[in-house]
Amino acid sequence: MTERTNVVVVGGGPGGVLLAYLLARAGVRVVLLEARKDFDRRFRGDSVAPPVLDYLHRFGLAEELLATIPHGRATTFEWWTPEKRYTIADYRGSSPRFPYYALIPQARFLPFLVEKAQRHSGFRVEMGARFSALLHDGAGRVDGVRYRRDGVEHELRADLVVGADGRNSKVLRESDLTPAELASNIDICWFAVPRLPDDPSGAGQLALITEPGAVVGLLGQGDTWQIGFTLPAGRFGALRDAGVEPLKDLVRRRTPWLGARVAELREPGQLTLLPIRITEVDRWSRPGLLLVGDAAHVISPVGGNGINFAMIDAAEAANLLVEPLLRGDARAIDAAASGVQRSRGALVAGEQRMQVRVERGVARRLAERSPGAPLPIRVQGSVPGLARFSARRSLRALRVPPPSQAILGRSSTVD
Ligand SMILES: Cc1cc2nc3c(=O)[nH]c(=O)nc-3n(C[C@H](O)[C@H](O)[C@H](O)COP(=O)(O)OP(=O)(O)OC[C@H]3O[C@@H](n4cnc5c(N)ncnc54)[C@H](O)[C@@H]3O)c2cc1C
Repeated sequence: MTERTNVVVVGGGPGGVLLAYLLARAGVRVVLLEARKDFDRRFRGDSVAPPVLDYLHRFGLAEELLATIPHGRATTFEWWTPEKRYTIADYRGSSPRFPYYALIPQARFLPFLVEKAQRHSGFRVEMGARFSALLHDGAGRVDGVRYRRDGVEHELRADLVVGADGRNSKVLRESDLTPAELASNIDICWFAVPRLPDDPSGAGQLALITEPGAVVGLLGQGDTWQIGFTLPAGRFGALRDAGVEPLKDLVRRRTPWLGARVAELREPGQLTLLPIRITEVDRWSRPGLLLVGDAAHVISPVGGNGINFAMIDAAEAANLLVEPLLRGDARAIDAAASGVQRSRGALVAGEQRMQVRVERGVARRLAERSPGAPLPIRVQGSVPGLARFSARRSLRALRVPPPSQAILGRSSTVD
């Protein structure tokens, strides 16, 4: 028998989980389909920005999240040359409550949000449920999904299908919407080592370490340090030939407190390769279907905002969609779904343009083995007040619309 619900969200990443939570909170019946059987993922966008923490605070979630899940707090973003450390963004004036990026593993953050969603009677999550096809009604409007779970095919009809299934979105591939690649200049290889109680805290949780021929990202999370080695796109083969000793030497030289721990890196196969491809989709919606997060626009790790853009898409989508979904008005649902791109498209495109510029610059630095920091970074890191200004400017792209009364005010809580 084919089941029917208000909304099917495909993909339990930050965008899909937050959207499902917000809709369920407002009394919408929502089924979240996640292909994996758990949320145990490493090396994802883990940096939750001050405006997103402020947004979660409105639901009483931010404080509990920060009190219960080990995380790092990055009050600054720094650029370290061999000679000098420049603070290029200073978030300390950005929010009265949360003047920092919280570096929280998605593996802990997502189950936390799902548990909150489960308190609402309209929410259901299906883990290990892999979306395979879109269903259409007689007029060609998307009308549900087909998915496979434990070897069994299911059909689920819905007033709206949301594709939140990330950078390789199957929902996008199954639709008639078209993606375009904007850039692919660099790849990043990630490695993680444990964090110990005596490690540096405060400044330096989020840093870019540079020297001729190397650009390395450093992220201090709750119980690990993530180290990201940047390569020109497609050069992982060369790294494999060169081996990991040059990378380990760099870490020992530049972050001596990690020296002994990096011995755990013995061969390139231990690195997790993330090819950085920035893409956008011409239209994020069509009748009965909406794409959010990386499914609609792949944000690169430059700036660490993929998680934030996905969650802000969810916040905007929930505001626009709740009322039409509760009324079950297909025409109004489609109008609201197309409004998400109208509200978010320009901010996303602006971020992607900045990322393309930065990535080209990084690729050039790697190829030319440039020493030191480029002039704008030296100026930004030396003139008092500029780092705070730069933080405020970059956070403008992360404005989160306040939740509508329909989401804040209703309670469909079951406990
Ligand atoms: C391997 C990897 C490493 C990354 N590293 C970084 C980083 O270091 N820094 C950074 O800022 N950003 C990084 N990102 C990007 C960042 O994680 C994303 O921008 C952010 O998570 C986007 O959230 P999302 O909700 O749109 O999609 P995602 O977080 O990608 O979530 C999509 C979800 O959909 C599920 N899914 C996929 N296909 C199906 C299907 N057919 N049926 C059902 N479910 C499906 C997936 O299992 C996943 O849980 C990385 C992304 C990836 C994939």
